[in-house]
Amino acid sequence: MKIKGVVLPEREERVLRVDGEVLRVAGDDGGELVADGVWLLPGLVDVHTHPGTVNPGDEFDEAVFRRHMIEHRDAGVLLVRSPGSADRETGRERDETDLPRLRSGGRWLATPGRFFAGYGRDIGEDELVAAAVEEAGTSSGWCKIIGDWSPGQPAVPVDVLTAAVEAVHAVGGRVAVHAQTAEGSRNAVLAGADSLEHGMHLDHGLLPRMAEQGTALVPTFTPFAKIVDKLDGAPAEFREWLLAGWEGLPATVRAAHAAGVVVLAGTDTTPCGAVAGEIDWLIRAGLPAEVAVGAGSWTAREWLGLPGLEDGAPADVVAYEADPVADPSVLTRPSRIILRGRLVR
Ligand SMILES: [Zn+2]
Repeated sequence: MKIKGVVLPEREERVLRVDGEVLRVAGDDGGELVADGVWLLPGLVDVHTHPGTVNPGDEFDEAVFRRHMIEHRDAGVLLVRSPGSADRETGRERDETDLPRLRSGGRWLATPGRFFAGYGRDIGEDELVAAAVEEAGTSSGWCKIIGDWSPGQPAVPVDVLTAAVEAVHAVGGRVAVHAQTAEGSRNAVLAGADSLEHGMHLDHGLLPRMAEQGTALVPTFTPFAKIVDKLDGAPAEFREWLLAGWEGLPATVRAAHAAGVVVLAGTDTTPCGAVAGEIDWLIRAGLPAEVAVGAGSWTAREWLGLPGLEDGAPADVVAYEADPVADPSVLTRPSRIILRGRLVR
């Protein structure tokens, strides 16, 4: 099997030949040409999704996990990172042949008063370092720390968070930190987290440091967009805090990109397979279209350690009938999907 088109982001026309589970850009085995004249991405990527549960508090459900992953796959999302899962069987191999590649972060690490009670792994602050190392060791190398929760409540102290990040880095792991208060976002950056999830109320003065140490920003517009106009019954203080964070997010994303911070696309909520919508939010926030598409494709893939559409790369390819940078709406309509060398569509 082979596929011919313009490869992004290089904008080079290539014939990609599928050789088992890898791509070849040279040679011709006479295999079937499944598409020609198309635009080619190494698949979409959703770096913040929680396959296996729908609502906070749900038990992890194997059938739901499969359904979510198939929703991703059929939308052209061929790689996902799950920063926090309700799956209690840590270390279970979930990189299944017919499903998108999964980078899991083990269970959410929740210290007292932060996160939905009982949904994550509830631990004391004094247990965070050991638990973070353990989750990173039994997942795909990531762990997820709930760095703050409610407005006006203290975030995980910066010394505790720093010790956890250093310990996980020492064993070769990476740390994602949930933060949506100014204090939580600051602590995540000062601790040297690998990714700041949400990042609302982030002090823009911290962006150069994020760029320098390689802390990516995953703003997740998708979940907030679903709740910002449903806050009428919420306490005024909470509502104002959330709306201020939401209204500040586009400027934070623009400033982050301008400062050299890697911004990535994550959807957080269901339905899965909706990362094209998050890419659209990034564009509406003011990111150049090419940067926004990369945030949900090649940039995210590289950030997770996988190459683009080059010789020897894993055979993950998604084809579109139009240039997704010129017309991002085409991202919801993949014409061909190849995952691990198998034609899905
Ligand atoms: Zn999340």
